[in-house]
Amino acid sequence: MRTPSVTAAAVALSTVLVAIVSTSVGVAPAEAASTCSGDRITVRDLGRGCAVERGTVTLPDGRRFVVPSPGTTVSALPVAAAGAVDPGDVSITNTGRSGVAVAVEGEWSGAPAAIRKVRSLHERLTGGGTTAHPMAATATKPAPASSCTNRTYALLGYRWTSPVRWSSNPSGARATDAAALRAAANAWTGTLKTCGRTITSGAANTYLGTTTQAPAVTANGGCGSPSGASVTGWGSLRSGTLATTCVWSRSGVAVEMDQRYTTSYAWSSSATCSGARFDLRGVATHEWGHTYGLGHTAQASGLVMKPASSQCDLAQRTLGLGDALGIDAAS
Ligand SMILES: [Zn+2]
Repeated sequence: MRTPSVTAAAVALSTVLVAIVSTSVGVAPAEAASTCSGDRITVRDLGRGCAVERGTVTLPDGRRFVVPSPGTTVSALPVAAAGAVDPGDVSITNTGRSGVAVAVEGEWSGAPAAIRKVRSLHERLTGGGTTAHPMAATATKPAPASSCTNRTYALLGYRWTSPVRWSSNPSGARATDAAALRAAANAWTGTLKTCGRTITSGAANTYLGTTTQAPAVTANGGCGSPSGASVTGWGSLRSGTLATTCVWSRSGVAVEMDQRYTTSYAWSSSATCSGARFDLRGVATHEWGHTYGLGHTAQASGLVMKPASSQCDLAQRTLGLGDALGIDAAS
């Protein structure tokens, strides 16, 4: 239920450029900025250093996230359709008393004390590596083979300490999904023979079958409340976004992932893909790369982890050199 705001915080909100932040606000008054709550917290509110027990934060781009419980990070990892703008990776970390830190494409905002803590942890977990996040390509070119010359990868800063136990929800699926999703999950596991190399991956998953539970990925590309179960499913997403993965982690250890694939485009899960369709197995291989802890490489890398996919990009089913080196480092 939205409540018209009469607090001082609403004055600050009116200067925020996002029209989505309208008349409702649940933050504490500015003079008592030690806590923020409600369903309309802004990044500017977080910048005052407030602690968040529960609430929903709206990013300047309109994506909304249920703030994770203290000690938890939630990451949202989209993949764009080629020609669309990549909305960018998001991670939101609730440090408890030090407030909430937000990173969008490596740009930090939120509570200064939280940013200091989270950045230092993130640099330790990723080896200090920075991630380049170019926009999606503006032209749809023929899909290249996954690159065996490009060695780049990016680590997101979390890893799994046990196999990812997951289920799939086929409700609304635009293509037969379980086999394609399982092949994608398994593309990163076991003994990988990639580009003439043999790499033993530590990534692992256990498929539990179908479920009626919905993934906690929201239609605007944000992440909802984690359920404790990792689920893939289908639903609307913003135009230009093919899929989004949300991962929850605590001190660098992933505890849940959810994936949503858009129902707004046509998909294929056949061995050969044709027409104006996106290849579910290829796009899902990318989403599983995120699930296992990999971020984006440059679009020109030709790797699975490039940020945007073309139609029938069958090459995205197969790991390139950087993808294999990345999963070796991430698992
Ligand atoms: Zn992605």
